[in-house]
Amino acid sequence: MELNNDTPATQEKIKQMEQELSKLEHNLWKEYYEAGKGILEIAEQENKRINSLVDKIIETRRKLAETKQEKCCPECTASNDHDSLYCKRCGARLPDTDDTKEDNNGTK
Ligand SMILES: [Zn+2]
Repeated sequence: MELNNDTPATQEKIKQMEQELSKLEHNLWKEYYEAGKGILEIAEQENKRINSLVDKIIETRRKLAETKQEKCCPECTASNDHDSLYCKRCGARLPDTDDTKEDNNGTK
């Protein structure tokens, strides 16, 4: 096969192929973009679901600790004996026994 790059017909063919290629590449990027967006949306929904589950677990742990008269660690939510001063899991300072009410100011 002999290819002559100099003829206008060949030049035109090359131009068309290049245009087709850039169109295809554009479509590919669009697909990537849409797929990425879809994945992000799913991830966000899953994240919300998981977060609400985690919230529920933390709340339940807190209630359980309260019922068992244990201290729930504000940092890692581990339950500790009611007279513990520091968390047995992470070592965080636990709130005083007298003050078990929700008091979250300044502990972050
Ligand atoms: Zn802890």
